[in-house]
Amino acid sequence: MEKSYSIAIDGPSASGKSTVAKIIANKLNFIYVDTGAMYRAFTYAVLKAGLDPKDEKASESLIGKIEISFNEKNHITLDGVDISKEVRSNEVADNVSYIASYKNIRLFLVDSQRKIASNKNVVMDGRDIGTYVLSNADLKIYQIASAEERANRRYKENIEKGIKSSYEDCLDNVNKRDYIDSHRSFCPLHPADDSIEINTTHMTIDEVVNEILKIAKERGIY
Ligand code: C5P
Repeated sequence: MEKSYSIAIDGPSASGKSTVAKIIANKLNFIYVDTGAMYRAFTYAVLKAGLDPKDEKASESLIGKIEISFNEKNHITLDGVDISKEVRSNEVADNVSYIASYKNIRLFLVDSQRKIASNKNVVMDGRDIGTYVLSNADLKIYQIASAEERANRRYKENIEKGIKSSYEDCLDNVNKRDYIDSHRSFCPLHPADDSIEINTTHMTIDEVVNEILKIAKERGIY
């Protein structure tokens, strides 16, 4: 069997991982897997079922009862229904880090993530891809930016998508998720020992993409 390659892109909320990961996957003709969308989809399912995302046992009760997947457009689906717009709501963003801190829910989603990636060329972004999900990835990037810059990017993105928000709300959300994501006991957000850190605060998207492609080329990934 021909060798398949994987690129893991991790980092805190709104550090531009998914934008960059999507472009790289496109350029290399690799599959792009947005694992954050999967945690968001689980959160949406919990809210839709009228359950409390802060209640671990209640949230876990959906494991095995719901199907989270990606359709042919690579849009996130819940039980076959495209929920790519719904998962971007403020309500989902405010609650997703609670859901992502529950071990059994993580194991359920990690299992799907590994199946999607198995024997394929992938670019996967998230928080624990290089440290846990694909710990043998051929290239591990840890993408960071200042909290203010990330809040600003998220605020602009919300405006473009017609989602109501303020810069202050975005900054609060980014800080809150950073804290919860890096303090949970199972698979907290932290760089893998063999990851390469890229600080994107003063970089354009093209510059980040080119930097990663340069390293990927040096490693013989393409
Ligand atoms: O990347 P995105 O901001 O869409 O991720 C939403 C949330 O999902 C993160 O704040 C984090 O709590 C969680 N997440 C995670 N592990 C991943 C991807 C996302 O815990 N691999």
